[in-house]
Amino acid sequence: MKIRAYVSKIIKLLGIFLVAFLLPGLNAYAERPVVVVLDPGHGGDNTGAIYNGFIEKDMNLIVAKAMKAELEKYEGITVYLTHDDAETDMTLKERAEFAAEKNADFMFCLHFNMSESHMLYGAEVWISAFDVFYAKGHAFGQIIMESFSEFGLFNRGIKTRINNRDDDYYGIIRESRNLGVDTILIEHLHLDHMIDQEFYAHGDFQLEEFGRLNAAAVAKYFNLASDILGVDYRDYPVPEVEVPSEIIRPDLTPPDVSHIELISLDIEERVAVFSLMAEDYDSLILYYGISLDGGISFDVLQPFPLGETELTVLVNLPPEQDLKVVAAVFNAYDRITQSNVVEISALPGDEIDEDILDELEKIVDISLADLTSKLSDRQEHLSRRLETYQIIIIGIVVLMVFLVLIIASRVWLLLRGRERD
Ligand SMILES: [Zn+2]
Repeated sequence: MKIRAYVSKIIKLLGIFLVAFLLPGLNAYAERPVVVVLDPGHGGDNTGAIYNGFIEKDMNLIVAKAMKAELEKYEGITVYLTHDDAETDMTLKERAEFAAEKNADFMFCLHFNMSESHMLYGAEVWISAFDVFYAKGHAFGQIIMESFSEFGLFNRGIKTRINNRDDDYYGIIRESRNLGVDTILIEHLHLDHMIDQEFYAHGDFQLEEFGRLNAAAVAKYFNLASDILGVDYRDYPVPEVEVPSEIIRPDLTPPDVSHIELISLDIEERVAVFSLMAEDYDSLILYYGISLDGGISFDVLQPFPLGETELTVLVNLPPEQDLKVVAAVFNAYDRITQSNVVEISALPGDEIDEDILDELEKIVDISLADLTSKLSDRQEHLSRRLETYQIIIIGIVVLMVFLVLIIASRVWLLLRGRERD
């Protein structure tokens, strides 16, 4: 009995030892690497956006390749590209299936954007509107949007979009979710806005920079470390996002408040100061623009300070035309509300100061007089010279005539002398 008790005690202790020390170790050993799929948007005849000779499918591919190369410098990650040439055109379903086949923990779809109005600029991400897919997408979205903002890009937010079947609007997000793959669609910037052109139009190195930015965001999200890069994100605090129990719907209504009031008008300097009040009860106001022609054309959109509802706006006014000042405010879903119109009647053009004019006239007079006297001096000098030359020439001519006469008279005398002989 005693021996049995000992044996069972030893077995128990062994069991505890196994559970406490060996199994977690074995688990860690068996822990598979993170698997991510990068999907360069478009391909083949499906070029994506084209602007000023820049073709989206090619740009997406450069970003994807740089992102893969950078991610592979981290430990514990396997990276796949859905395709690595510009000629392959996969359907959205094929891309989703590729990610599911690889057992991807996340698929990152890489894109560049363009707007119909050519007025929008900045980066944004699109995520699933559903449960855990939303939560994970939003967590990663926060990390990448923060790094895009630090990089200098305008932050257009982390958004969902729903189609008329109450499903995720973007096919790649919908198809991936159906196969259980977390997916996010990254729109790095707008090709057709001068503000964003600074971030891509100077060479491929800028696109590769996006690849590295994206890779760092992925490494943070999965708490990876890299000996090669000397970075360690194992303790990086990944944002915690609650899993929503309902569909997270986009804001389909335009901003609720858009109102301007003229605070002051400096007629001489032609500067008007307005108070702009703007609010969107469902989402955020992203930009505002000012029109002087009643809302037909707008100047470059300006960022509206996040979370504010009132803003002081300085507007430079052109002279000699009646103005209809209107503000337009844009929400995160690019829905626009125009404000009331403030009419300002034509302001005078620049008045020329009489004193300054007199002064200018004097300066001109002085320099003119100076120029005239210099000119006449020169003329006098020249004519005197000319006179001297004339005298010399006349002298020479007289001398020569005299010589000819002497010679002629000599010859004549000689001839006469001979005749007498
Ligand atoms: Zn695209």
